[in-house]
Amino acid sequence: MIGHYARRGTLTAFAVLVLTAAALPGGASPAGVGDRLYPDLGNAGYDVFNYDITFDYHGNDQPLDAVTRIDALAKDNLTSFDLDFARGTVRSVQVNGRPAQYSTEREELVITPGMPVPAGSRLRITVTHTSDPKAGDDGGWIRTPDGLAMANQADAAHRVFPCSDHPSDKARFAFHVTAPKDLTVVANGLREAEVTGGPATTWTYRTSHPMATELAQVSIGHSTVLHRTGPHGLPLRDVIGAADNDKDKLEKRLALTSGQIDWMEKQVGPYPFETYGILSVDTTTGFELETETLSLFERHVLLASEADTAPVMVHELAHQWFGDSVTPASWSDVWLNEGHATWYQWLYAAEKYGLKLEDLVRTAYRGDRKVRDAGGPPAAPLPPAANDKLGIFRPNIYVSGALALYALRTEIGPAAFKRLERAWVTRHRDGNASTRDFIALASQISGRDLTGFLDAWLYGKDTPPMPGHSDWKSDGTAPATSKPHGVSITKHA
Ligand SMILES: [Zn+2]
Repeated sequence: MIGHYARRGTLTAFAVLVLTAAALPGGASPAGVGDRLYPDLGNAGYDVFNYDITFDYHGNDQPLDAVTRIDALAKDNLTSFDLDFARGTVRSVQVNGRPAQYSTEREELVITPGMPVPAGSRLRITVTHTSDPKAGDDGGWIRTPDGLAMANQADAAHRVFPCSDHPSDKARFAFHVTAPKDLTVVANGLREAEVTGGPATTWTYRTSHPMATELAQVSIGHSTVLHRTGPHGLPLRDVIGAADNDKDKLEKRLALTSGQIDWMEKQVGPYPFETYGILSVDTTTGFELETETLSLFERHVLLASEADTAPVMVHELAHQWFGDSVTPASWSDVWLNEGHATWYQWLYAAEKYGLKLEDLVRTAYRGDRKVRDAGGPPAAPLPPAANDKLGIFRPNIYVSGALALYALRTEIGPAAFKRLERAWVTRHRDGNASTRDFIALASQISGRDLTGFLDAWLYGKDTPPMPGHSDWKSDGTAPATSKPHGVSITKHA
């Protein structure tokens, strides 16, 4: 996780001004959608349905020239509105084909169209700008030895391109990236075109499903793309260094993906996207990331022992269902991503690498009290500390979230739990959902009101008793960093 979680809790004079204006008919919209943890992210005045982003790459220490075209629907009468944007120079803005006035204020690009945009009408915003990979180290572009990749979770997509940078505003994406012709570009979704003219090649990629901005991925580098076929003919493609000395070892590891998709499909049903694969970067980021259809992995993690790496691969794969296809309604619901990804990581490690699931869970349970004390309950996590790169990604959303799922499975039985998981990813596919939606569906599927039970696990300050294990105690004595075979209970992945 790369993140620069500056304090955003206090209202600046600017925010007060904008919020005041929003209350007036035909006024501006507030600076964000009011996320409890990241209040400035997103914009309530419109709904984006498409991003079309053009990047011109000149080397990983140079700003990229970029054009971001956003198609949206106005939800209010807009005399002015914001996009989230930082780390680039804006050269011009057009709204519905006409030049618009703009100004930048902290991480907001404030746009005033020549004519107000009525509620319910289409809004096309075209921003010509640069995108600077050297401007800061708080997320967005990652500089690799030979190019760039992206890591935008949680709040850094707008440090790459102007956007409505909140997971509740999902949209389809197209990327057109021009780079010197000896480089390879891979992005979310499927490749649509690759056109070489003179010294450069322009690559076009398009997603077939809506995606949260935090899950965008564009890889530019001296890369080789390995193609494989997964279950039901699913096209798989992995991206590794063209000159990687450990190509054979990487290929062997990446060949596990197809079987892992098959395993996940047995748990929760069909893989939700048009393709999948892993992007190997020869960089130490300290995390792996579930960028949609193309998960970001540190090369050294892929080259660790199979028992260490494979469960982490399943963690990022599970996110394609939990987080990417079904995206949290707000950042407070992020345990829905990490709790589920950790749960399937544990289950896979136990099934494939001879670990006892109950031992893993018991170890995690023992440390849960300390984890909750440090990070808050999983569905009401504490805000990120200022300048804390790990931000909200503390063990509570992983470990306490996965423990809640284990407790739920014990309480309602494995068969009902499986029905719930399948119903969840089917009902909310390509959408957003909240913790309350999960509790309601669990109650519906199990035929009993689980509000009290799940509220205790998800919103409780204290660790609830574990069903079926009344002898278990959460006294905080377990090492929270114990790492049995890739099942680190604190690793952020
Ligand atoms: Zn994760």
